[in-house]
Formats: sequence, structure tokens, C-alpha cells
Amino acid sequence: MAFRDIVGHRTLVGLLARSIERGTLPPSLVLAGPSGVGKRLAAVSVAQAMNCTNPTASGAAVPGCGVCPACTRIARGVHPDVNILEPGDSGTIKIDQVRDVDRAQIMRVGMAMSLDHPLLGVGLGNYVSVFSSYNVSNMKREAPAHNMYLDLAAQMGIPALLLYLTVLAITWRGLWRMESRMRAEGRTRSFPFLLNLAIQAFFVNLMVFGLSGDVEFDYGAFIMLGAAVTLLAAEENSTARVGASGRN
Ligand SMILES: [Zn+2]
Repeated sequence: MAFRDIVGHRTLVGLLARSIERGTLPPSLVLAGPSGVGKRLAAVSVAQAMNCTNPTASGAAVPGCGVCPACTRIARGVHPDVNILEPGDSGTIKIDQVRDVDRAQIMRVGMAMSLDHPLLGVGLGNYVSVFSSYNVSNMKREAPAHNMYLDLAAQMGIPALLLYLTVLAITWRGLWRMESRMRAEGRTRSFPFLLNLAIQAFFVNLMVFGLSGDVEFDYGAFIMLGAAVTLLAAEENSTARVGASGRN
């Protein structure tokens, strides 16, 4: 299904097609009307026309071929840049659904950055400049009175805080060494490598933003710590097995 397959609504479809071709499509559009007239189809077709990787293949007067990988992904609802939000049981779209779209987008950008740069070379400054182009203002939490470390010290005591930071540092060092080894072996697209980077990115986030109180200390930290230790143990086991079979 593509733009040109929409039945009827010639004036509207022509208007949309011209706006897309001239790059004058407004930032938001409301398609209103009774159910069943093709509002959703028109919206999906606009998304296809804007993301089509083969816009001239159809030779049609309207953009969007409907058959290229981008167009088919959009039709199946799995294109990474096209989000379809639908009302839940309440019959309305909740603000949290909209925020989830922002969160997913920021996560994708974060993962891409972690893949592109050795972790500690990214630098906080780079994160800020990239993330500043996204609207994160509606995602901010209420700022706590203290930073994460003060909260931890108050709740767990200084010795427990030092123990926690030591465990974190040891685990992080292990992950970092594992990353260097896998990079040297050219295993930069393997699942353990990607998971390793994700966990390291989480720890950096926790350590850096914990100072300003922007990160809440919660069970997520313990879950990621557990995942890191499991990953390290599994990787050590597989390296030991490779070493043992290599000697035979
Ligand atoms: Zn296409």
C-alpha cells in the first residue's frame, strides 16, 4: 500500500504529496473524520513518502513506492523512525506513551554513540551536545535534595557506600578489560561485546549523573551489576574453554 493507492481524497492527497516534495510539510497534521475513511492509511502513507529509499521507482505523481525496505517496514509498523501510538483501554493516548517514544529515541542514539566511540573517549561534553537536540525537558524528574552518593551514605552508611563503589569499580575494570580484549580479537559485533558496552554506559551514567542527583539509585543498579558479573563470568568460561581446546 502506498500513497497512490489511497482511494478518493484527491485534493487532500495532492496537497500532502506536493508539501512532501517541496519540503513544506508542517511539523504536525491532524487528520479528522468519521471512522473508516482512510485517516490512518493517509498518515502511514505520509510516513512512507517521507522515508522512502526509492522515491522515483514508481514513476507516480506522488512519492512513496510502497515496496522498498523502508516503505514495507513502515507498513509493518517496525520502522525505527516511525512510531504509531494508539489509545489504550482508556480510549486516550497517555503522556507516558509519548515520553516512551523520546526515551526509545535517546536510547538508540546512546547505543549508536557507545558503538561509535571507545567508551571513555566519548566524554560527557559529547553526550550533552548530542542529547541537547532532543526534547528531554518533559522527561526530567523532580530534582532530589541531595546527590546520589549523599543519599546512599545517609541510607547505607559510609562503609557500605565505599564497599558499593569498590564493587562497582572492580566490575567496571573487568568489563573494560573484556572490551579491550574483544576489540583486539575483532569481536565488536558480538552480543557479549554489545551487552558489555551497554552495561558500561549504564555505569558511566550512574556515576556521572549520580553526582547531580539526576539519576535515582534504585534496583536498576543492582540488576546491571548482576548482569555485569554474569557476563564477565560467562566470558571468562568461554575464553578458558577456547584456551583449553586450543592446547589440544
Ligand atoms: Zn519506498
